[in-house]
Amino acid sequence: MNITVSKPFLPPLERYLSYLKLIWEKEWLTNNGPMVREFEARLKEYLNLDYIVYVSNGTIALQLALKILNIKGEVITSPFSFIATTSAILWEGCEPQMVDIFSDTLNINTSLIEEAITDRTSAILVPHIFGNPCDVQKIEEIGKKYRLKIIYDGAQAFGTYYDNRSIFAYGDIATISFHATKLFHTVEGGALVVRSKEIERKLRMMRNFGFADEYAICGLGINAKNSELHAAMGLCNLFHVKDIINERKRISERYDKNLEGLPIKKQKIAEGTQYNYSYYPVIFPEKDVLEWTVSQCQKMGIFPKRYFYPSLNQLSFLKKRTFCPVSEYIAERILCLPMYNNLSVSTVDLISEIVINALRG
Ligand SMILES: *Cc1c(COP(=O)(O)O)cnc(C)c1O
Repeated sequence: MNITVSKPFLPPLERYLSYLKLIWEKEWLTNNGPMVREFEARLKEYLNLDYIVYVSNGTIALQLALKILNIKGEVITSPFSFIATTSAILWEGCEPQMVDIFSDTLNINTSLIEEAITDRTSAILVPHIFGNPCDVQKIEEIGKKYRLKIIYDGAQAFGTYYDNRSIFAYGDIATISFHATKLFHTVEGGALVVRSKEIERKLRMMRNFGFADEYAICGLGINAKNSELHAAMGLCNLFHVKDIINERKRISERYDKNLEGLPIKKQKIAEGTQYNYSYYPVIFPEKDVLEWTVSQCQKMGIFPKRYFYPSLNQLSFLKKRTFCPVSEYIAERILCLPMYNNLSVSTVDLISEIVINALRG
């Protein structure tokens, strides 16, 4: 058996081949080709959002977001995330200011944000962790009060809706990742969701070396374009995304049922959310129980994953040490159980059995 924490969704090969045929006919592989434009148009339609720029990955999307908003100085962020959330801030020459998380939602603790703001703070950049919306109202309030830009790292949040709108409708910019491990992917890929035609236009130039047209260079840019082949994968997978989410919901509910009544905690999903079931994290009472579970799984060829460990405030290359006891506590005890399309019920039951036995000691 080889059961990994996630597996990429592969659309029917025939469908992908039909897109490849079109690419071969046009002999156009990259540089804002017809597939990329169609993918952007379809995404806007699917998410009911106006301005979306497709780029080469979710990390460069974060970097472009910081760049286009001209963020400098300190950026408030959450230590409980994938490394890219923090590294994008550092890469853009800013300083991450870590603010601890809520122990139930696992998102930034909004009651601690204000005390972390200094006169050098210019933005809040936080993830909707495991696709669970942050307290977007409270964050917007704080942003207005202190004139901070708000960027949401929505890498894990595709398919989540909050208050009947896509979660990407919140913040000055929301970024997406379409990496193969995410529930909706384009092999590699990412996007920025922005609020004006003007920002969208500037980002299109920025992702293309700063070119405004064939020769005119309008400003500093980078190569953050994505290819026709990647966009084609996105177009294929968009047909399946509703089914993908339903399938994950089914798996999630099976785990819920199997693990009911055990001394483990689960993430609390914000009220008013239509959730995307992107991950199945469980929080163990103690670290050794987690480690025991992992070792028992491995014996059976099952590989759950410790998302996210370690807590990012503990990164050795951060200049400033911040104590984030909740994030550190969670990072030590949280484990994501396998979750992907076509994961069989019997495997979900087997994994649940291992967890149950580990908790019995
Ligand atoms: C996956 C992920 C990213 C990075 O996305 P890539 O497309 O792999 O660059 C950033 N932030 C979070 C929270 C992620 O889960």
